[in-house]
Amino acid sequence: MSTFLFTDAHDDFRASVRSFSQSRLAPGYMARASSSEFFWDTYRELGRQGLLGLGVSEENGGQGADLITVGIACEEIAGADYNAAFTVFNASVAGGMLEKNLQPGLREKWLPGVLSGELLTGLALTEPESGSDAQAMRMKATRVEGGWLLNGEKTSSSLAAHAHGLVVFAKTSQDGGTRSVTAFFVPLDAPGITRHALNDIGFKPIGRAAVAFEDVFVPDENLMGEVGRGFQMVMGEFDYTRSLLGLMCYGSAQAAIDMTVAYAKQRKAFGQPIGRFQGVSFPLAEHATYLEGVKWLSYHALALRMAGRPHTKEAAMIKWWGPQAAVRAIHDCIVLHGHVAYSEDLPLQQLLRDVSGLEIGDGTPQIQKMIVAREMFGREYLPYAAPKATS
Ligand SMILES: Cc1cc2nc3c(=O)[nH]c(=O)nc-3n(C[C@H](O)[C@H](O)[C@H](O)COP(=O)(O)OP(=O)(O)OC[C@H]3O[C@@H](n4cnc5c(N)ncnc54)[C@H](O)[C@@H]3O)c2cc1C
Repeated sequence: MSTFLFTDAHDDFRASVRSFSQSRLAPGYMARASSSEFFWDTYRELGRQGLLGLGVSEENGGQGADLITVGIACEEIAGADYNAAFTVFNASVAGGMLEKNLQPGLREKWLPGVLSGELLTGLALTEPESGSDAQAMRMKATRVEGGWLLNGEKTSSSLAAHAHGLVVFAKTSQDGGTRSVTAFFVPLDAPGITRHALNDIGFKPIGRAAVAFEDVFVPDENLMGEVGRGFQMVMGEFDYTRSLLGLMCYGSAQAAIDMTVAYAKQRKAFGQPIGRFQGVSFPLAEHATYLEGVKWLSYHALALRMAGRPHTKEAAMIKWWGPQAAVRAIHDCIVLHGHVAYSEDLPLQQLLRDVSGLEIGDGTPQIQKMIVAREMFGREYLPYAAPKATS
């Protein structure tokens, strides 16, 4: 595929994930995607294939894969089943976060289940009154003997309706700055927690939920990282998640384009295959170009991260551009199929609804452009720009 980034091992991995995804995941995508039930069987199968442990070291039961490999998995699986790809993405990121930040006893308790597909975890940052302006969160963690009491409400948390545990961000002091935010690992069967699922237009088997916390006791051992370092932790993860999400956008939209090229070669109008009309082939050529850019910027950002080099700007570029490019491409693929795509017999409408959540989740385009501009102009020049966690 490319010699400057992918090794033979990457190419072999890609071939095997593609074969698994196309044979085992693609055929059931529509059935799974139109239901709000979480696909536990498929998830466990992903665990058996080792695809949930890519982001965790071998020492802790994972695959110890490099970030390019995680990206390949996200790309290839999204080409077959966007929602299954989201769970691989989530397990890779969550697994890595739990491995790095959970204390040893708790890590041994949770990590094996996350890697095998028995346990699900999510991340809860957004609140009813604060999304983009995450540092305005109101969720409070009050110090008590042996731990903390959590009070407040999170919302829009992916997987939270099905999850067993959540990484929850709360303020441990009221000075209001990013240094007041701390991360906790919270089992969702803790007394004082209530949750309700949101009724979404796509992304249904993953789903989002609102989670209320009323005097929820969290022992000290469930603290993730240091007190006051939660904001920095989550912002650092965003630079990683945005690169992987870019590859999911690419994988999904490229599958739609491949499907449309095949259709346009055989569907005839005015006596010839519609693919011979430039009104049909040019939009596909344009979308393929934009998406190729998304793909390589995503792998570039992952390579920068592996090399320990800054990649915040690249990750934010991917996050505003990738979902938009994917949504526009899938939309045109629907139009180029004509009436047959305006039904649930084809997966394109479903795919559009599934992928479009990414235009908002993990940060909106406006916020990403603020980050890109801040990196270009300098924080002192754009003091209004989205907060960057200080180290
Ligand atoms: C599919 C999906 C999955 C999600 N998963 C999770 C999850 O797992 N965990 C989690 O914590 N959250 C999750 N979210 C929530 C998501 O992170 C927030 O929705 C997002 O950060 C935006 O916050 P908001 O919805 O409160 O919008 P607001 O912050 O209220 O913004 C509303 C609009 O105003 C714009 N805006 C705000 N400030 C500015 C500004 N300064 N300049 C220009 N425009 C601005 C925004 O771009 C947006 O268009 C998910 C959302 C979706 C849709």
